[in-house]
Amino acid sequence: MSEHTLHVAVIGAGIGGLTAAIALRRAGLRVDVCEQAPVLSEIGAGIHLAPNGSRLLARLGLEEELREIAARPEAMEVRAWDTGTVLMQQPMGDIWQDRFGGAHYTLHRADLHRLLARQIPADLVHTGHRAVAVTEDDDGVQIDFAHGAHLRADVVIAADGVHSLPRRTIAATERPVFSRTAAIRGLVAPGACAGLPPDTLLTWSGPAGRLLAHPLGCGRGIAFVAVVADRADHGDSWSRPADLAALRRTFADFEPAARKLVEAAGEAGHWTLYDREPLPYWSTARTTLLGDAAHPMLPHHGQGASQAIEDAAALAACLSHLGQGPHGPAPALRRYEELRLAHTSRVRQGSLGGGAQRLAGGAGMRELVSDVTWVQRYDLAAELTAAGLPPA
Ligand code: FAD
Repeated sequence: MSEHTLHVAVIGAGIGGLTAAIALRRAGLRVDVCEQAPVLSEIGAGIHLAPNGSRLLARLGLEEELREIAARPEAMEVRAWDTGTVLMQQPMGDIWQDRFGGAHYTLHRADLHRLLARQIPADLVHTGHRAVAVTEDDDGVQIDFAHGAHLRADVVIAADGVHSLPRRTIAATERPVFSRTAAIRGLVAPGACAGLPPDTLLTWSGPAGRLLAHPLGCGRGIAFVAVVADRADHGDSWSRPADLAALRRTFADFEPAARKLVEAAGEAGHWTLYDREPLPYWSTARTTLLGDAAHPMLPHHGQGASQAIEDAAALAACLSHLGQGPHGPAPALRRYEELRLAHTSRVRQGSLGGGAQRLAGGAGMRELVSDVTWVQRYDLAAELTAAGLPPA
């Protein structure tokens, strides 16, 4: 066994990059995280942390803190878009917790992000570091940054989101497919929309679009996502403000509670939605992709964060167990890919047919729920153990 501690550089301090850094440090590896943003900031709106993701964060010792910052919906409800009649109701809360072995949380992305960032010593997170080149040789890999600095490591994890720099090389010919839909994510302050059950996941699906509302933790109120038709391809951006007046017009014919929800939105962002075919591979000898960089998917299964967290746990297990052999980190990266590529491709396939399209096509909520059940039940720790790897 070599005396050398594997040094891993993570590009991107999003949910996936930060979770990878936490898991790698717990496994005893040396980690640096490089983030392009000048500071780790409060961008985003509501996010789902499904049981398959929350179970892994609990294994990393974060369960108690998660419970403090997140909401755990007690029920989900589908309402008729025009009359508001409750078409279907399912209990969640303890029942889901028991069924899936972990909580289904809904929370503000910034709160989850801050919780993860707190677990990593500040001097290991290098903000203002935008990676512009990644170059491998036999002994290591170098990242060049826009401001002229460099960092050398044994392995690079590209957790740099959908526009990932290394992804552009691996997926040189891949083109995102504009879905002709957009997600408008908005926030409603506490008390600004009286009458809605505060601890329920609510869905309305009508001719103009689908609306989903969920509670946020930390007394932040309610978040909603509206999936609507979008004729213009606005390009991928996390910071495009939504046109609130247009949103209100879109939902003007919906039942009063849905209408009030969009009318009460204090702020909202516009995300053009794209589908991307799975890549044939994610890794070179010393560099691999993680999270949205590896497998961006439509958001209809609410699995963006949870899949990135699963990747992070799997990669940490592979690198800590196989990363320092005579053939360098390549066998560990191959094993990671074997564990994750086919699984995430199936999740992406499911999210294609999920959500708005299924409901609009007449699928019931029960059917929709069973579509995602296998994803939420997936037990990465058991999978790692079965593969002879240390469970995350
Ligand atoms: P991301 O969360 O996209 O993180 C990628 C990180 O890499 C970012 O911090 C980015 O600044 C950094 N980065 C990119 N390029 C470089 C580079 N060249 N050098 C260094 N750093 C780089 N999902 C929701 O469901 N609801 C939301 O409200 C929501 N808001 C979001 C807001 C932002 C700003 C972002 C980036 C993502 C948001 N998401 C949201 C998406 C969600 O976080 C992801 O789908 C999921 O968590 C997987 O995350 P990831 O870590 O793979 O990638």
